[in-house]
Amino acid sequence: MTTIGNIIDGKAVAESIREALKNEVAAMKAAHNVTPGLAVVLVGEDPASKVYVKNKGIACEKAGIRSVQHTLSADTSEESLLKLIKELNADKEVHGILVQLPLPKHINSDKILETIAPEKDSDGFHPYNVGRLMTGRPTFEPCTPLGVMKLIEASGIELSGKDAVIIGRSNIVGKPMAMMLLQKNATVSICHSKTKDLEKKVLAADVVVAAIGKAEFVKGSWIKEGAVVIDVGINRTAEGKLVGDVEYEAAKKRASFITPVPGGVGPMTIAMLLRNTVDAAARTIKKG
Ligand code: NDP
Repeated sequence: MTTIGNIIDGKAVAESIREALKNEVAAMKAAHNVTPGLAVVLVGEDPASKVYVKNKGIACEKAGIRSVQHTLSADTSEESLLKLIKELNADKEVHGILVQLPLPKHINSDKILETIAPEKDSDGFHPYNVGRLMTGRPTFEPCTPLGVMKLIEASGIELSGKDAVIIGRSNIVGKPMAMMLLQKNATVSICHSKTKDLEKKVLAADVVVAAIGKAEFVKGSWIKEGAVVIDVGINRTAEGKLVGDVEYEAAKKRASFITPVPGGVGPMTIAMLLRNTVDAAARTIKKG
């Protein structure tokens, strides 16, 4: 089941994708003796990053993907990190490379991301892959917005002709999200901190994607009756509760479909990372 009432069950969708990937990986091993490999690079001690990296490793293992973690100290030089990336680019057993963001301030993240070989860019952040997404010929698509698209697809929501409002314009969520929705023929507005009359814009939207990073910022009363609400935000309240960017209970009463936090978009991000890694391995097999 993809939906429970009007709630889109991201955990269930992600689980079914991961199960299918597990079978795909097993078949790839049997037919070609190739095991998809993901290199995950972590620089420093950021606690949230450590958890994300650990979870990615566990998910890879469950799917049969070989994952190798490279942990570097917070004072690692940009030069050493670049050297590692180049080694991973050349390693035939590595099909995907992920550098966990954020990087320490003394390292130029753009330079690092641009050094990853575009054909191993399983996060889809390299300008080459961003450009391909922009021109409608995607290779690797960023995992979080790709996960959102899969949730929408699995729930049978039709996007063509719909008015979609995205709140947030980051390179990892908001902007690629806009391209993906546009390719499905939605009419897309991208809103941000300088947007005027945000409430009015949200009230007119058939589809709302919130990727702000502010707990329950989007009020339930802003949601049009019957709108689809996708909440990308992950925020911890003062009481330690995990909440999204949308006032969930109130929005749920008005939405035709809504994603919960946790259990909505979150589980899809890792599933899409696995998807991208397996696709990268499949492309190397095809190339011969
Ligand atoms: P960023 O901080 O990079 O971007 C936030 C965006 O929100 C910016 O574009 C900003 O506008 C906009 N914004 C901030 N305040 C307002 C406001 N008052 N009104 C309208 N727009 C506003 O965040 P990310 O895109 O990286 O992440 C967004 C959220 O999604 C976070 O909670 C993050 O934890 C979560 N996330 C979840 C993932 C998952 O797997 N589920 C993966 C990635 C992120 P401006 O550009 O003008 O500053």
